[in-house]
Amino acid sequence: MGIGYVLCSAAGLLLLLLPPSRPQAPTGNVGPQWRDDEVHFNRTLDSILVPRVVGSRGHQQVREYLVQSLNGLGFQTEVDEFKQRVPVFGELTFANVVGTINPQAQNFLALSCHYDSKYFPNDPGFVGATDSAVPCAILLNTAKTLSGYLQKEFRNRNDVGLMLIFFDGEEAFKDWTEADSVYGSKHLASKLARTRSGSQTAGQVRQGPRNIDRIEVLVLLDLIGARNPQFSSFYENTHGLHSALVQIEKSLRSAGKLEGKNNMFLSRASGGLVDDDHRPFLDENVPVLHVVATPFPEVWHTPRDNAANLHWPSIRNFNRIFRNFVYEYLIRHTAPVDLRFH
Ligand SMILES: [Zn+2]
Repeated sequence: MGIGYVLCSAAGLLLLLLPPSRPQAPTGNVGPQWRDDEVHFNRTLDSILVPRVVGSRGHQQVREYLVQSLNGLGFQTEVDEFKQRVPVFGELTFANVVGTINPQAQNFLALSCHYDSKYFPNDPGFVGATDSAVPCAILLNTAKTLSGYLQKEFRNRNDVGLMLIFFDGEEAFKDWTEADSVYGSKHLASKLARTRSGSQTAGQVRQGPRNIDRIEVLVLLDLIGARNPQFSSFYENTHGLHSALVQIEKSLRSAGKLEGKNNMFLSRASGGLVDDDHRPFLDENVPVLHVVATPFPEVWHTPRDNAANLHWPSIRNFNRIFRNFVYEYLIRHTAPVDLRFH
């Protein structure tokens, strides 16, 4: 995560709503069938919560764990591997891990986070619990708790697929700059912008849209797991989606399904932007829903960003809200959702 927290012009509150609901999917449905699976969450987090600087043994192990987990959850999994020279280490091998359900679909909802941990010369034990082990575990837990839907009713939908992206090399090796940061997302965005979906039938090649233009929205989770996080809306074109998170949190709270009293999703536009893995996607006009805690967790980029300082009620609440958001997006989707700036 970059410390580039810069002022932007006041964002208007343009409400861009989700597609209209199907008759059988009432608004505010907070799917009581989507139960927590804390055993899965804890096991997943344990496997990711190790030092995992790019090129290290822990990094390789976590990468393999992500591939196995995605395969086990019924995703088609690809590893986007590449080599690049970086400060301090010289040439490193990076690998984004991407899992997809319904890869043939016209468009995608993409959920993402980064799985590398930051290199600190004086702290080889840094595990980056909020940055971003917990977000990675949340993505896998979302897929696990929704698997009854994702593996059955959702499968073979052609209008929308689900993509889980685990970016590599988000962290700077030396100091955060445009060049020394978000290595994996730069590589993946450029690859998706260079390739197209296409079908070949009877010798005729039909060129489809660029793959990056098939992403309806990139949801990026970062810096999650500390006590009582606050999430604001960062981009006008996804403000409607942020509002859906606000509404789902309210519904779950009034149904008695959340712990504590603090709302984490705030109905307000952020006063600034946070530089992160979404930058190369923004540059390609991909709509971004940036779910990052501001202010940053107190433990950010310190040795205290570890398991002992995680706040479990906040994590459980986040999981409940987020899985309902993903379910609602997919079940209410009937036609392409175009939130791009034109
Ligand atoms: Zn970081």
